[in-house]
Amino acid sequence: MRLFGTNGIRGVVGQDLTLELAVDVGRAIATLWGPVTVAFGRDTRRSGPMIRAAVLSGLLACGARAIDLGILPTPALQYYVKERKLSGGVVVTASHNPPEWNGIKVVDGQGMEIPRAEEEKVEALVESRAFATPSWREFGDVSVATDGADMYVRGIAAKVDRAAIATRRPHVVVDPGHGAACGTTPFLLRDLGCRVTTIHAQPDGTFPGRRPEPTSANLEDLRTLVPSLGADVGIAHDGDADRAAVIDERGQFVDGDRLLALLAQEAVRRTPGLVVTPVSSSSCVEDVVRAGGGRVKYTKVGAPLVARAIYAEGAVFGGEENGGMIFPEHLFARDGGMTAARIVELLAVRGKPLSEMLALMPRYHLRKAGVPCPGDRRESVLARLAELAAGRRVDLTDGVKVYGEGGWVLLRPSGTEAILRIYAEGRTPEQADAMRALGESLVREALSE
Ligand code: MG
Repeated sequence: MRLFGTNGIRGVVGQDLTLELAVDVGRAIATLWGPVTVAFGRDTRRSGPMIRAAVLSGLLACGARAIDLGILPTPALQYYVKERKLSGGVVVTASHNPPEWNGIKVVDGQGMEIPRAEEEKVEALVESRAFATPSWREFGDVSVATDGADMYVRGIAAKVDRAAIATRRPHVVVDPGHGAACGTTPFLLRDLGCRVTTIHAQPDGTFPGRRPEPTSANLEDLRTLVPSLGADVGIAHDGDADRAAVIDERGQFVDGDRLLALLAQEAVRRTPGLVVTPVSSSSCVEDVVRAGGGRVKYTKVGAPLVARAIYAEGAVFGGEENGGMIFPEHLFARDGGMTAARIVELLAVRGKPLSEMLALMPRYHLRKAGVPCPGDRRESVLARLAELAAGRRVDLTDGVKVYGEGGWVLLRPSGTEAILRIYAEGRTPEQADAMRALGESLVREALSE
């Protein structure tokens, strides 16, 4: 039984994510970890209180104790677990998914999402129902703590150049999207000395102002507001605020790969070292990191894998093009609040408009396509693709990535659909088209056999 996706358990409440499942996941975690203390948090979703009660019920029934931190960003809970040296944590959140969804993320004692092997143990316990059955004296209990968000905000504020920010006083429009960052990012940036304007900043699980995913289309209000107020930057989060999306001073949505490159460049400028990113990331990241004297390590797609590699290799920074940035000096996890703080720090320290800094990032052209591929043929098609690509420069970290003239193409099965995804990138539009064409022809040949 597979319950965990790339970032925890997710589903429509009452259909995929039932109360019964939430109770069982709580039981499984407590059975696996024993009578330990875990931190608990959630985002602002309407189903949050209900799923909270179910997960806590399962945890306590099998002997775990919980510290309930209430509504807070996922990275704030992760930071709390790490700083308080707890055994782990659980967050009830569906991140960027629609309002009717919810989910469960499980965090280990380092504040990282548990590895796949641990997820499999939880799944096996949910399936076998071999839960711990403590005696009545050994049931767990819940205490409430209200300092989770504050601890997170103070932790970030201690790691950025406060003096530079307070001198420059960037004007920031913050759009927490009615999610978990309503109580953190606006206060963090104000405390750092920014001028802060907010929209969609009341916690509300009906998400009246915009959808929880911080895409360009969903951030129309922010894109309009930033230039009309003459602000320096707009910062938006997804529902659980582990990600940040950025609008420049002209109201332009900043592409995730360019934001990733800018922050990677800054990280390497501070400490020349290793940057970790998935194989699907744009080469503009590697270009700026190498130019700054650093190196890049590519991982499989998925933020928890990037975080683990940063931890294992002592990297200085890592992230994904969807706005999930990881700053190991603070946390081994995607961190929307730290991303916001580093961006205002960049504005203050460099003293240049964001659009100007971004214009200096190398530009690549991206092409995406998908080819139907039955789920049961995924492995054989991938093996055949690797054979067909032999003789070229190939990276088999995740799917098959083939390098060519001025670009590359990545051929990778979708995690959720019976599709083989084709991502192609080139320095020029023609090179991007050529890489996509190469990918399509390889896939056609592999599928025809
Ligand atoms: Mg998220």
